[in-house]
Formats: sequence, C-alpha cells, structure tokens
Amino acid sequence: MSKLGLIEQGAVAIDSVQGTIVFAGPVSALPRDQLAPSCRLVDASGKVVMPGFVDSHTHLVFAGTRADEFYRRARGETYQEIARGGGGIIKTVQATRQATEDELYASAVGRLWQLYSNGTTAVESKSGYGLERDTELKCLRVNRRLAQDSPGLVFSTLMAAHVVPPEYTERRGAYLELVRDLTGEVTALGVADFHDVFVDPLAFTVDEAAQISSQGRWAGLRLKLHADEFGDDGTAAWGVAENALSIDHLAGIGDGGIAAMAAGESVATLLPATMFFSRTGMFAPARRMIDAGCPVALATDLNPGSSLVYSMPFVMSLAVLHMGMSAEECICASTINAAYALDAAGQIGSLEAGKRADVIVVDVPDYEEIAYHVGADLIRDSIIAGKFVKRDGRMVPANSNI
Ligand SMILES: [Zn+2]
Repeated sequence: MSKLGLIEQGAVAIDSVQGTIVFAGPVSALPRDQLAPSCRLVDASGKVVMPGFVDSHTHLVFAGTRADEFYRRARGETYQEIARGGGGIIKTVQATRQATEDELYASAVGRLWQLYSNGTTAVESKSGYGLERDTELKCLRVNRRLAQDSPGLVFSTLMAAHVVPPEYTERRGAYLELVRDLTGEVTALGVADFHDVFVDPLAFTVDEAAQISSQGRWAGLRLKLHADEFGDDGTAAWGVAENALSIDHLAGIGDGGIAAMAAGESVATLLPATMFFSRTGMFAPARRMIDAGCPVALATDLNPGSSLVYSMPFVMSLAVLHMGMSAEECICASTINAAYALDAAGQIGSLEAGKRADVIVVDVPDYEEIAYHVGADLIRDSIIAGKFVKRDGRMVPANSNI
C-alpha cells in the first residue's frame, strides 16, 4: 500500500469513444504516432494525475433529512434519546417508503454529482432504508437507473438486513424470511450486484447473518458486511471464512479479526467519516491492520444519519489525522483497494492501458498535499469513461466530449 508506481513527467492517453485508457506511462514513451490527428491535449503540468476515487460504501438512495439530529447530538442528546422521539434510521425509513421512485432518483442524482465534484468516479450504493419488499426493490431500481444514466460505474447492493424494522421486532424470523426471499428476487430481477448485512447487537447476529449469507451464495451475490463497528464481535474473522468481498467499519476489530483479515481475501473498508460525524471518538486501528498485512480501503459511508460526507479527500484527511495512515496508503485505499472491494479491480482503480478512463487532475504539485489541504476543493478536472465531468474546476454536462 506504500508503493504508488509514481511516474514523474507522465502522460495518459485516452480513447474517448471507447472510454478507455490506451497508454499510461512516461511522456517519453507516449506512442505519438498512434494518436489521432484530432487528439486533444489536456495540460496537467505541475499537477497530480491519478485514478478517480472509488467510493465503495455509500447509502446514496434515501429521502428526507436528519439535520435536526446533527445539532441535537452535538448538544449532547444520545442516539437512543433521539430514536425514542421518532428520529434515527426509522425517520429515514418512513420518508424513503413514502417517496416515489422518481423523487428518490432525483435526490440520489444530486448526491452522485456532488461525489463526482469531489473526484469520485465510481460508487457503490446500498438499499436498506426500505426494510420491506417494495421499497427495497424501489431503491435498487434507482441504483440501476443511476448506473444507466450516469457517467460513472454505480454498483448496487441489497441491504434489507440493515436493522429489523419495528413492525417485525417480535417476529425476527419472519423478517429474516423476507430478507432471504428478497435475496432471490433481486437476483432474478438483476437489480443487485452484492448483498450486505449489518452484524451488530442492535441489528443482526452472526447466526442470522450466516442464514442470509448462505441464501446470497445460492443466489450468486457476493457478501459485504458492516462488522465489528463498536466492539469486537468476532464478525471480521467469521466474514473472512464466509469469503466476504469486503468487511466494513471495523472500529472495534480485535487481534483475532486482524490476523484473519491479513491472511484472507476480504478487503477491510474503513469509514473514519462516520466516526467523525457521529462523534464516537473511536477509529479503526488502521495502522495495526496495515502493518499486519490487511488490505485496507477507505470510503465515505455517505448516509443521512451518521456520515453526510461526500469527499474522499476529506476522508483521507481523517485517515491521516485519526488513523495514522500515510499519503500513499490513503491513495491506494481510495482507488485500487476500493476497486477490489467491488470486485472491479480489472476495470477501475488504477491508470493502466485497457482500464476505464476514470482519471482526475488534482490541483496540487505533489500527491502528499491532497489530504493536507483539509476540506478544500482541489479537483481541477474529472474525466469519467473518457468524458469530462468537471473541467477547470467547474462541472460540465456529462455528454461533453473530451
Ligand atoms: Zn454503511
């Protein structure tokens, strides 16, 4: 994670029709004779050119706002007090159930473009604010519409196993049955790429997750997990044994979990913005995890309750300040490792010939400065699949050709 393959005096050649990279390397090796006469040059002298950020963990599709809770928590009210008054996740669930598919799509597109503005070029988006069949399917259809209409890749994850909704509190088994049925249905409909379970004392047990996982395996959906968020439940080690694609949060992961993740294939996706936004003061032990050999990714966890954060550079700043990660590790965790967390490392996450041309130009002379300018908009250009989405610091229409 500390080796970026940095090329000084580099060049990237893009086929803007195919939307792919045809060359990435030193300027001196650029095959100029193969470039079309109409080829346009983008001067990035003195800037950093790098793969666009891959945000591999978001809850992009939701309705309503929880701005009031943001201030109430800051004044000392607890999550439990807010939840008792009808706030918390259930407030978002009610608003999301009431919203039409078009309303959900419109608000999600706005957020997606906010992510693009911050240099993100590929996104994962979970359901999980429906907690009933129709609304979960509605949110997953929105994910597919986003994937179809937006320039960047949008991966869709079924997360009906977010929490048990209040109407099923006394009938957990019935809700698990609903989740299992939905897992098969979303596969038949082709609206999900992955499925995800929140394993937590307030959500689902490992035994319940195992039932959901086996249904997902039968349906052909790779597993992602919200695990060991606040304490060591042993979920990380279990997730590695289940061959989870990624295991996320992990602020409470213990030595056993770290050893299992270092030896396994699952990507550890850390979400420091959640811990920052929700003021827990607890961050995943990234330093110990990376030193032990765990593959670590970073993501925003964009959601209305605990992380309304759109910027991967800001997440990188938090990863440096609160988790001791280096500039190189932050970049690796936000690009290629995040692509692995989406089973898409063959397509995105690095600048290599044959990959999608998801490229950003960052207005700093050295990559070490990206996390250092906390909260600044440093993204000068963003190119997604060979087309400008942002140019000279301004957003441009998605169909504007390079
Ligand atoms: Zn999450």
